[in-house]
Amino acid sequence: MKTNILVQYRGSGYDGCYWEWNYFYIDKQGTFHDIHSSGSAGIDNLKGALALIERDETHTYIYDLSNKQDIKAFSKETHPVHISGVLQWFNDNEDIEFFAVCSACGCRIDSCDDMIIEDKDLFCYDCYMAGECPCCESYIGQEGIVRVNPDEHYDHIWICIDCKEYHDGEREPDMFSGELREQRL
Ligand SMILES: [Zn+2]
Ligand SMILES: [Zn+2]
Repeated sequence: MKTNILVQYRGSGYDGCYWEWNYFYIDKQGTFHDIHSSGSAGIDNLKGALALIERDETHTYIYDLSNKQDIKAFSKETHPVHISGVLQWFNDNEDIEFFAVCSACGCRIDSCDDMIIEDKDLFCYDCYMAGECPCCESYIGQEGIVRVNPDEHYDHIWICIDCKEYHDGEREPDMFSGELREQRL
């Protein structure tokens, strides 16, 4: 029997029409742990778990947690909301190695407290901060953030291109009015 494995499989929703990802963990001693199970296809015991593994279905994924590559693969292939749920479970329940991987820098994130989920991505704090525009307070991505003169951009040093263009546009009318025009004359 395989041990120290995280298994992702299709459990079913309550009226049988929908499915959702369910998870269980079989620890190093071979003990079954139900991380999340739902509906009639949900599995809450070792017997059911072994039967599922035996059936070897297309939508059953087995991750060997003794292998770092498997843990990384899980983080890459799974929606961040689920990664966070599974990581939280390991944070709370088990003293075994498990982590999420930052979508931007690939660093290892050991705790749910150290990650930020943004749409389909999961970021470490550093990457999130580097890609967030402090002016419009939205996540843009590092490539969309530019350095600006804080005097012209409400004291922000780094802002997104849209905010920069917007501020630049706001200032333009001044060029043709009042002081500036007088200086030119
Ligand atoms: Zn990162
Ligand atoms: Zn912005």
